[in-house]
Amino acid sequence: MNTHRRYCSVALLCSALAACSPQNPPAAVASSTPADTVNPIDLLHYDIQLQPDLATATVRGRVVLRLRLQADVADHLLLDSDGLAIDAARLDGEAVTTLAAGKQLQVMLPRPRQRGELLDIELRYHGKPRFGLQFPADQAQLYTIFSTQQWVPGIARPGERAGFDLRVILPGDFGAAASGELVSSENLDSGRQIFHWRQTRPIPAYVMGFVAGKFDSAQWYDDTLFFNAYSASLGQEELRRVFADSSDMLAYFARRAGVAYPYREYSQALVSETIGQELAGLALYSDAYGRRVLEQPESVGLIAHEAAHQWWGNEVTCRDWTDFWLNEGFATFMAATYLEHRFGREAYLRQVEGWRKRVDELVAAGKDKPLHFADWNQPSADDRAVVYQKGAYFLHQLREHLGEDAFWRGIALYTKKHFGTAVDSADFVAAMRAVAPAEHSGFINAAIYGPR
Ligand SMILES: [Zn+2]
Repeated sequence: MNTHRRYCSVALLCSALAACSPQNPPAAVASSTPADTVNPIDLLHYDIQLQPDLATATVRGRVVLRLRLQADVADHLLLDSDGLAIDAARLDGEAVTTLAAGKQLQVMLPRPRQRGELLDIELRYHGKPRFGLQFPADQAQLYTIFSTQQWVPGIARPGERAGFDLRVILPGDFGAAASGELVSSENLDSGRQIFHWRQTRPIPAYVMGFVAGKFDSAQWYDDTLFFNAYSASLGQEELRRVFADSSDMLAYFARRAGVAYPYREYSQALVSETIGQELAGLALYSDAYGRRVLEQPESVGLIAHEAAHQWWGNEVTCRDWTDFWLNEGFATFMAATYLEHRFGREAYLRQVEGWRKRVDELVAAGKDKPLHFADWNQPSADDRAVVYQKGAYFLHQLREHLGEDAFWRGIALYTKKHFGTAVDSADFVAAMRAVAPAEHSGFINAAIYGPR
């Protein structure tokens, strides 16, 4: 019930194009790792086995985290673990104790460790995810929503990237998709099945995830990529119509980015209730949204928004939530430019007008802020509007100021240079300085950092 209320309220706060974002950026992590502090953990890989129980909406799991120390550590390591109970912990095979501290977990070290050491931390755990893993009441679906550390301990900070092996035990009649490539799916004696996906390209934790359910599915190939679509309510032909533009979207964003889409497959699923979310190589939307696209083919803005995140957000990722506009302002703006490409200039300008009105409201209410936040703890609806709509409106204005050629050269320069890494606003400013006459610096800095 809480979950239901929560999503209703979020939906009211977000426009269709401004829908996806980590719902609960981990405040403690964001504030405890300022940019000038070396985080001691470089997390390299998650090896996860997860056993969800649909009847009780709980999970039981085991993870081995492989990490490299970036600093000497005397006493303990700090992981993110949101509401999970740890049943056993081992460090390089040796039993160790853990201590829960809010949304973090201290793994106590038997002896000091030094920078450069490789460690394996094995955790066995169980819990009842509050919203990071959704268990709809009909027990016919299961899907993750951003708050990954509610179903596996790890590092939540968006600037931290890791690969994973993910094995999930599911009912025998479920289909499933996840970030990463499917390695195998096997039937178990229990009548259930185990899926194994592997993600070799390092990604932020919040875009790791999976979706499973009693789905119809459609698959197609566009001479470059494989597309998969899943739904419990729409059939194959309808799924193909809902996602008919996906191939064109990925080709369009690859052109704008100057970088190819990094995977061989793109999967999309319609689930019972979500506001739209981007996982690596996988996007989720609600059944209701899928039906709307069938009725109004121009409503593909959210599909474009999530596709844009495959570059801006998932691959060029804000290092910290304080520069969240680099994920969401970009995806909002880029989706509108796709609508321009697909439906014409008027479709783009309608989006711009919506952003302009929202920015005017922020200014009139005294709620306008620079795009770069001092902190992102407890963001309000107005703060989100700054990140999404003001961020997109700023990029539109910059496009107008610089002209098509310089603006898109700057976007490609920024995207290519930082693809697969974490960024902050200074990286964006540096890329734009390379293409923009000096006279625009004041406008760029004022929007991002505020008047000085
Ligand atoms: Zn988004």
